[in-house]
Formats: sequence, structure tokens, C-alpha cells
Amino acid sequence: MTLPSAQPEALPPDALADVLVVGAGATGLALACDLARRDVRALVIEQQDGLFPGSRGKGVQPRTQEVFDDLGVIDAIRAAGGRYPKMLTWRGDQPVREWDLIAQDATEPGTPYPAPLMIPQWRTQEILHERLLQLGGSVAFGTRLAEFTQDAEAVTAVLESADGDRRTVRARYLVGADGGRSTVRRALGIAMDGETVDPRPALVADVRIDGLGRGNWHAWPEAPEGALLLCPLAGTDLFQLFAQYATGEPVLSLDEVRRLIGERTPLDPEAVREVRWASDFRPRAALADRYRAGRVLLAGDAAHVHSPAGGQGLNTGVQDAYNLGWKLGQVLRHGAPDSLLDSYESERRPVAADVLGLSTRLHRAGRSGDPVSVQRGKQTSQLGVGYPDSPLTAERRTGLPEDALRAGGRVPDFELPDSTRLFDLLRGPHFTLLAVATPAPATHPGILTREFAALDPLSPGLYLIRPDGYLGLATRDAADLADYLALVSGQHAGRAM
Ligand SMILES: Cc1cc2nc3c(=O)[nH]c(=O)nc-3n(C[C@H](O)[C@H](O)[C@H](O)COP(=O)(O)OP(=O)(O)OC[C@H]3O[C@@H](n4cnc5c(N)ncnc54)[C@H](O)[C@@H]3O)c2cc1C
Repeated sequence: MTLPSAQPEALPPDALADVLVVGAGATGLALACDLARRDVRALVIEQQDGLFPGSRGKGVQPRTQEVFDDLGVIDAIRAAGGRYPKMLTWRGDQPVREWDLIAQDATEPGTPYPAPLMIPQWRTQEILHERLLQLGGSVAFGTRLAEFTQDAEAVTAVLESADGDRRTVRARYLVGADGGRSTVRRALGIAMDGETVDPRPALVADVRIDGLGRGNWHAWPEAPEGALLLCPLAGTDLFQLFAQYATGEPVLSLDEVRRLIGERTPLDPEAVREVRWASDFRPRAALADRYRAGRVLLAGDAAHVHSPAGGQGLNTGVQDAYNLGWKLGQVLRHGAPDSLLDSYESERRPVAADVLGLSTRLHRAGRSGDPVSVQRGKQTSQLGVGYPDSPLTAERRTGLPEDALRAGGRVPDFELPDSTRLFDLLRGPHFTLLAVATPAPATHPGILTREFAALDPLSPGLYLIRPDGYLGLATRDAADLADYLALVSGQHAGRAM
């Protein structure tokens, strides 16, 4: 039976959803958008009554901007966000140094989006939610996953609404995008051990302050009770406050924010007009032992948590979703073997392990007070993420020059002979086959094929680009294509995909 609506109350008792997405954070929303454009009917549930209201994940990295381009939200994201301002370090009431957190030489050929963008997380989520509605999906707010079981065919989940009403739904797969305290991960008994990155707790809040310049990200790193930072949030009249506590515990109140501002900065405490949102946290780095148990998968903070230093968390979650979305689409709509989903963990878990190491290093370097050691650039852009060791990577050419684009790598944007851009071809849920000075095999549904007599920087051959923009197969032999398609679609070249 097909799913008539994405709202659980509208489901007939015997309805089978394709995917139950638990959590409408950035990860769950990005996944839901990707699934919706693949005609995969997802039921998205969120325990809160509305979208998350805080700014916390405010840095959108270059690679995530490319993902947002493909998902059709980049224009809205760029219109709502802005560039990072220079940092201004203060000692008491004295400004001592202005410097770039984002390395200004971070130009990056091969991407339309070389610089990170600042946009409060609540705004990113609003835009993803609007896109989901446009694509015909929706979120069931005020609906909590209480428990679930799975069998060979499906997952059976018990959902609970705020008034205690319980109903049971069935879905072929369940994705736990339910954050660091993930109910799904705990129910599966998947361990997520890790280390405390910093024993000192921190307060993060969105505040309205009169009389503070919006041209800088202000930092008082040497304040005796702990560092305090105020970042003007692009597209709003708010600042994001970050305050560490050398002793004691954060208190989430307007009075406490005024006390911090009064004690650690030259600003008048009464200049703090409003605290729109506040939260406390203690940075921890931890990685789930597994990303998959049968029909249940973990994504985003449910699978990895780490320090916010380097602005990687939301980005890594969105890219988990982007990696998983097309694989679920292939399995559910195009007959790919279920084993395709195993490649999600083998590709994404090592990436998260690297992100944990990077964010812990940046966090600890931040304590040294040396601006260069915390500067963000190539290492945080996520453009270098690739899957060279993946079971889905097939590099069949030999004798390649050192700098050749290899299977497993992210495909960069470049100009095509007709003056359009490669990313224009890639945009959408399909695979793209580039046949360079090589006859293209018969076309297949689900693959956009283009032939070129020559195409700098690619040497003659066949290049199959995955829907998430990584080069899956590079070969000079058309017979390799059939083998590759069997992996990702369960069908062979010459047959419909
Ligand atoms: C101070 C700070 C600064 C940060 N800065 C950055 C940055 O610059 N860049 C960056 O990339 N990241 C940053 N991060 C990290 C980023 O905020 C997180 O990585 C991101 O929110 C993870 O998204 P998610 O969707 O995986 O999880 P979450 O945002 O935690 O969303 C999970 C959702 O699941 C819902 N949920 C939970 N349990 C259930 C249930 N049982 N049933 C139904 N729903 C449920 C929750 O209500 C929530 O809405 C920062 C974090 C902090 C604290």
C-alpha cells in the first residue's frame, strides 16, 4: 500500500512508509528533502512542537553549500546568511587585535562556494523545512518515537504525541537523526564512547545587545572566569554569546547573561535587551560504534558528537544525509541490493572520526590564544572529503598522473565546452555519465549521459558520477559500467535502472 500522507494520524493501520525519519534537525530535514525528490515517501517525526529555535550551528562550509545547491536551497541560504566578520580580540575595555578567523587566501578552484557562510541554524532549518513542504513532504511535530522493533520486512515503531496518544506505524527503514542523546541509538544498544574535550561547561545564547558594533566577532579570551565571545549573527539583529565557565555551572537566564556581560566586558549589563534562546553544553568527542543495525541507521549527532570548534557538526550531519538519501532511493525505488546501505557506514564513519580529531585539535588550540592555530580554511571546508577506500569506488585506469581526479574523489565544478558548468549537469537526483572521447554505452533511466570529444581536466574514458557528486567509476572499458550498475542499482548496463 502506498503512503497517502506523511502525517502519522492519516495513516491507515496497514500502511507501510518507506522511511521513518526520527528528528527534524538539520540532518533529518536534509534527508527528508533528498528522499522527497526521489519519490521516497518518508514519515518525518519531531518531538518538539516546532523547529529548533537556536543559532548554534551557524557555519555552513563550502561542501555543504554545494549540497544545498543540489537540494535547491542555496539561493535562500545565501540570501539569509552572510560572510564571517573579522575577529576582534579585547583585553577588558581595550581592543588589542583584529584578525581573520577564516583564512582570506582560502580561495578554492572548482567550487562556486569557496568561503564558509554564516547563518543561524534555526534559519537553515526553516529553509530546509520550507523546501520539504515544496517537495510535497511534511514534518509531524509533537510526535516522539517511544520504542520500536524490527523484523525481516520492516520496522514497527510506537509514536507518542504530546497528549500521550500512542499509535503504531511500519516503515521499511528507520533513520535515527535524533541528536546526541539519540533514543534510536540507545534502543539499539550501540555504544558511543568518547572523551571529554573540555571539562569546563559553556553557555551559548542568542541575545539582543544595544551599542555593540556588528562589524566584528568580539572576543574576550582572557576574562578571569572564562572566555566570552559575541558574534553578530548574519541576517538578524542578534549576537551569539558563547561563555566558558572556569568554575560553576551555566544558568540559562537574562540575569545571568547580564552578569556575564557586566563582569567580562566593558558593556553595560542593561544593554542586554533579550535572551531569545539559551543552552549549556560541555564539549565531548564521541563516535557511535556502528551506524547500522538491520533496517535502522543513524545519522548526524546521533552518530557523532564533538566540539563546535571548526563548525563541523551540522555540516557532517547534512552530508551523512546526502550520502544516505540516494542509497535509500536506489534500494527502495531502483532495485539496488540492501547491501548498498552498508556502504553508508563504511564511507561516513571514517569521515566523522576525522572530524572528531580536527574539532578536538581546534578546540584545544583555541585555548592557546594563537589565532593562526584556530584559523579555518581548507581543513574545515570539507571539500577534501572523499571515499577512496569505499566498496563503491571503482578506479579502473592505470598510469594516472599524480594530480588526476580519481574515483572516490569529489568531482569539482568546471566549465563545459558549451560554456555551461558541470554542476549544472549534476544538479538533481540522477547519476551522471561523462563519456570523454569514448563511445557512450546505451542510455539508462536514472543516468544522465553526455558525450564529449575532449573535456579538460578529464582524460579519455567513462566517468560515472554518483548522485552525491563523488566519482564512482572511472574506466576506459564500457564493460566495467555493467558491474558498477549491479552494485548501485541491481541492474546491468543495457537494462532499465
Ligand atoms: C555552540 C555550538 C556551536 C555550533 N556551531 C556549529 C557550526 O558552526 N557548524 C556546524 O556544522 N555545527 C555546529 N554545531 C553543531 C550542530 O549544532 C549540531 O551538529 C547539529 O545540530 C546536529 O544536527 P542533527 O539534526 O544531527 O541533530 P539535532 O540538531 O540535535 O536534531 C535532532 C532532533 O531530533 C529530535 N528528537 C530527539 N529525540 C526524538 C524522538 N525520540 N522522537 C522524535 N524526535 C526526536 C530533537 O528534538 C531534535 O529536533 C554547534 C553546536 C553548538 C552547541
